[in-house]
Amino acid sequence: MTDRRPILKRWLRRTVIVGSLGLLTSIAVAWGLATSIPNPPNIAETESCFVRWDRAWHTLEWRRTGNAHYGWVEVRAETEYWTVDRLLAHYRDRIKMSPEHWRDSPPGWGTMAQPTQPHTGTAIDSAAGWPMLCLWDQYRRVHNGDQLINLDFHGSWLISGGPSPNRGDFVALPLRPLWLGLSANAAFYGALWSLAIFGPGTIRRTIRRRRGRCLACGYNLQANLAPGCPECGWNRSTPPPGA
Ligand SMILES: [Zn+2]
Repeated sequence: MTDRRPILKRWLRRTVIVGSLGLLTSIAVAWGLATSIPNPPNIAETESCFVRWDRAWHTLEWRRTGNAHYGWVEVRAETEYWTVDRLLAHYRDRIKMSPEHWRDSPPGWGTMAQPTQPHTGTAIDSAAGWPMLCLWDQYRRVHNGDQLINLDFHGSWLISGGPSPNRGDFVALPLRPLWLGLSANAAFYGALWSLAIFGPGTIRRTIRRRRGRCLACGYNLQANLAPGCPECGWNRSTPPPGA
C-alpha cells in the first residue's frame, strides 16, 4: 500500500545529514582536544622496541583521555652500541622485569603504522579524539645548542605560533585521519545528533499513533488512521473535500 521510495529517500537524507554532522563534530572535538594538550611528561608510560622496515626503533608513549603521543627514535647500529640483535635481546630482558611498561610491537597508529618508512630518524606523533583517537600529526624535534625545538610539522594545520618545545607556544591542528577512530566517532556523534534532531518528532508520532490521532497534526481520528486525516490531509491519496 505505502510507497517505499519517499521513506527510503528520507532515511538516506537523514543518514547523510547526521553522518556529516557526526563527522564534523568528531573533527571539532579532536581539534579542541589537540589545542588543550599539555606537554608530555618526561617519563613515558609505555616503551617499546621493535624492528620495522629492517630498522630498529625505540618508542616512548604517553596517553591521556582524548589524546596520545609517542616519540620515536631509530636506534642506529653504527652510532650506538645497540645493534638490532643486542637491542632485541636487551628488550627481551627488560620485558621480563616490567611487562606492563614494555611492548614488543609498534604503536597501532602514526608513523610506525604506515606502510612506508620515514626518511628521518626521530619525531613525535600526536593523536587526538574522543571517544577514540581520530586525527594525528607529527612534529620533528631537533637540538639547537642546548635547546630542544620543534623543527617542522607534518600533517598539521599550524594556526598560530611556531617551533617550540612547549605546546602552549603554538596551535597545530592534526589533519591525518585514523580511519577506524574517525568512523567510530562519527557514528557516535551522528547517533547523538540523530536523537537530538529526530528524537522529539519520533516520540511525538509514537504517542499520537498510540492515542489514535493524526501523526502529522494530532487531530483525533478515533484510532482509525487508515483513511487519513480530514484536517491536514495526512495519509490521503485524494485531497480532502473542499480543499
Ligand atoms: Zn492531520
